[in-house]
Amino acid sequence: MRAIRVERLGPPDVMQLQEAPVPSPAPGEVRVRVEAVGINFADALAVAGEYLTRTRVPYTPGMEFAGIVDALGEGVQGVQVGTRVAALGGSGAMAEYATLPAAALIPVPQSLSGAQAAAFPVSYFTAYHGLKTLGRGEAGEWVLVQAAAGALGTASIQLAKALDMNVIALASTDEKLEIARTLGADVTILQDDPDRVKKVRDAAGGKGVPLILEVVGGKRFQESLDMAASRGRIIVIGNASREQASLRPVELMKRNLTVTGLWLTSLMTDAPATAEAARALAELVGSGKVVPQVGPTYALDQSVQAFEDLLNRRTTGKVIIEP
Ligand code: NDP
Repeated sequence: MRAIRVERLGPPDVMQLQEAPVPSPAPGEVRVRVEAVGINFADALAVAGEYLTRTRVPYTPGMEFAGIVDALGEGVQGVQVGTRVAALGGSGAMAEYATLPAAALIPVPQSLSGAQAAAFPVSYFTAYHGLKTLGRGEAGEWVLVQAAAGALGTASIQLAKALDMNVIALASTDEKLEIARTLGADVTILQDDPDRVKKVRDAAGGKGVPLILEVVGGKRFQESLDMAASRGRIIVIGNASREQASLRPVELMKRNLTVTGLWLTSLMTDAPATAEAARALAELVGSGKVVPQVGPTYALDQSVQAFEDLLNRRTTGKVIIEP
């Protein structure tokens, strides 16, 4: 089979397309014929050696994918060969076949296409945890969504609207803001608008925003604090700027602000929180209120281009690679 291989860490062009043997599922594992791989900012950071965990080489990237169950390892029960599944694993999906523990499979409505199913797990679980599990967002509350046309941004807007929240969306271009409006964002503001802090505060009734999903980091982190309402909750999810941010605890104290970190990988080990998110998301996707947003689609031999486009802000929705 064809698979992407990374022998040394670095920019996207360290990824190489190679021939590899089709893997056999170990006991407790399934083999999936990969239809679509969802590419996350985290995949590009992992290849660069800049992710939260150490990347061990050589390896095949790809943590999120969808496909058809193709073979079952010894002892696997309750999984049917031939069903479409989504999966969230550590790596290995940028290939024609992938093996993973049956427990890491995520059931998806069979109405979703392979690409929609691959666009689902990371962005929608993260958005749910940001808005509800950690953000404790309520119907009628304002939420600020940064990088609003990206994979996480589009998921966050859709979910927030499905939960009857009011959305202020920030993004870098008018075209991206138009996508945010199409998904239901109530107010859209260019991320580089010189009056952005005032405009955001005004949009939320002049008092600032009670809930902020912070994904840019660097010097923009201070702006998130400035945009927050008194007692605001800032959920730190990403650092797309790849710059350091500084935080003065006394500022949090003065305005009763809460800053909470969110990392999906560690939250996935919280079984009750994962089950609650899965239940809520299955209902919203099943009813059609939430439709995973598929972005540009690339073939496996265009993987370098896909990563470069993602890193250089040329993509909207979830970047998909179809082996
Ligand atoms: P996106 O599809 O949202 O792409 C990244 C977007 O970030 C860009 O399109 C761009 O939007 C924005 N951005 C802002 N500043 C920069 C910059 N300096 N360089 C590049 N991009 C920038 O990616 P994802 O949905 O995969 O991820 C979004 C963020 O959320 C990332 O920081 C990611 O690491 C994080 N994340 C974290 C998770 C967690 O568990 N903590 C899980 C999922 C995502 P624009 O042009 O509009 O500014």
